[in-house]
Amino acid sequence: MADIQRAAGISNLDADTGDARPAPRRKTLSSPYLHRLQRRHFLLFDIIPILGTIAALGFLTVHPFGFTELGLLASMWLLTGLGVTVGYHRLFTHRTFRTTRGVSSVLAVLGSMAGQGGMVSWVALHRRHHECSDRAGDPHSPNLAGGGLRGRLRGLAHSHFLWMRRHEYPNIAHYAPDLLRDRALARIGRRYDYWVLLGLLIPTLVGGLVYWSWAGAVSGLLWGGLVRIFVLEHIIWSINSFLHMFGTRAFDSRENSRNGGVFGLLTLGESWHHNHHAFPESPSFGLAWYRLDPGYWLIRTLAACGLAWDLKVPSTERIAARRVPRTAGTATGPAT
Ligand SMILES: [Zn+2]
Ligand SMILES: [Zn+2]
Repeated sequence: MADIQRAAGISNLDADTGDARPAPRRKTLSSPYLHRLQRRHFLLFDIIPILGTIAALGFLTVHPFGFTELGLLASMWLLTGLGVTVGYHRLFTHRTFRTTRGVSSVLAVLGSMAGQGGMVSWVALHRRHHECSDRAGDPHSPNLAGGGLRGRLRGLAHSHFLWMRRHEYPNIAHYAPDLLRDRALARIGRRYDYWVLLGLLIPTLVGGLVYWSWAGAVSGLLWGGLVRIFVLEHIIWSINSFLHMFGTRAFDSRENSRNGGVFGLLTLGESWHHNHHAFPESPSFGLAWYRLDPGYWLIRTLAACGLAWDLKVPSTERIAARRVPRTAGTATGPAT
């Protein structure tokens, strides 16, 4: 984080004290140094999990996939996935609810373990996505690469993950000043690399202890670590790519976001992406009890325990007012 702040030309912003003297307000930044960091992150956190997944399949000839591997993969996916959707997305980016210092710290750590970028960078990129959705400036729109099959395929590949190799960096002083001012959170965010490492170490230890062997430790690392990162990354990236191209729409909105309700459980609620664009302040992405949204279930559970409050769920009247009447014959189909 300190590296990025230096590169972003905001070294005068002291994340330890929260004091910020006038910082440049260019919305995005670009420099060879920033692009080197982006390339490094792409190789370490995006390419290595792909290689790790291939290695995990090869390692099956040495060590079978058992209940331990399944348990590690599922539990680490769930924990880090909730860290991303409830922590990074619904709490830190959109402030859809308020919570205690302890809960926000745990969510920041779990979100970091997912390996999808440091918290402040993730938030800044995502706020810019909402500001420029499917227009020039959107870091990952699938709809800006031209028409025809070729343009659509190029757009999908770009929005799914190729954009991460090199991109304009949103100025965190502009897009995430609230997070930079929060000393405790900023401290957690700066240790991003260590949290990712911890997320690899835990399944390695569990695998090693359960099987009491080095092969068990390697198997734990592969399935609970690298495969888990690979799976969650592609789930979240599919929201950026496929759900800005395919799916259903219910509301009148200027961007091309879509709902993919059938994937509600797998994406922990993120696949209600069109609902989310229509009501970004809402902690509920499903907007109704019958639309599966595990991220919101966690927030409701926290609220029931007194650990979350000020849930900004829009009223049914407000939701109804934004809804496009079906008789209007939207080209994109009915809401699901
Ligand atoms: Zn969002
Ligand atoms: Zn979007």
